Amino acid sequence: MSWILASDVDGTLTGDQQSLNHLAPRLREMQDAGRLFLIYSTGRRLSQIISGFADEGLPQPNAVICQVGTEIYLPPYREDSRPLESWRERLLAQYRRDEALVFLEGIDGLALQPPEFNTELKTSCYLDGCPNPEHAAAEIIRRVQPASDRYQAVWSSGRDLDILPAASGKGKAIEFLIKLREMSSDQVIVAGDSGNDATMFEHFRRGVVVANAQPELLRVAEQMNHDRVFVASLPYAAGVEEGLEFYGVLSS
Ligand SMILES: [Mg+2]
Repeated sequence: MSWILASDVDGTLTGDQQSLNHLAPRLREMQDAGRLFLIYSTGRRLSQIISGFADEGLPQPNAVICQVGTEIYLPPYREDSRPLESWRERLLAQYRRDEALVFLEGIDGLALQPPEFNTELKTSCYLDGCPNPEHAAAEIIRRVQPASDRYQAVWSSGRDLDILPAASGKGKAIEFLIKLREMSSDQVIVAGDSGNDATMFEHFRRGVVVANAQPELLRVAEQMNHDRVFVASLPYAAGVEEGLEFYGVLSS
């Protein structure tokens, strides 16, 4: 049996260097044996993943889904790599940045994220400077609702709000990628720690929620059948490792 691990990076694989250093060689060994296809599904930019190979000991993945499911990259990874064009075109057909910005107008305390996190397919802001971030997020989600055939709002970590194409998101991007590679969704195990990971758990049968997860993801996990979602007792990479042992991917 070969497996696909689609994992978030920040707060899921990273957060405790020692446990990542323990997990990374076990993943590499499985990749080398052709038994694991490793996907990072992250809010980061590709350049931040590339620097993480050297600086954080992140193992080289077989594919990277960046910017909350709006960009897909295949190896080799370079600073100037272009995202997969077929995915980009599909999303551009329904998304206009000037329209996405309208959903954010007049929200008191809202700050746009830096330009590198605002792309042609992702409009991202911080709400932690709002008088009530949860209310601000709820208001934006309410505004996006009537346009849900083309847009979605993703609220994460009490801070980040992204307006994304409706067809994007981590779960849908993984699905697109595994179809493209003619792999099966039955092979997928997802892992995450926050709200922008929720769509991965909705799309696939097996998932690992690390012990340090944000309340919004724990709530999603609670609503799901426990055969589907394993809530680890350990945080960060140690929790991912615990989950992979639970599913029999790694021996315990
Ligand atoms: Mg995370």
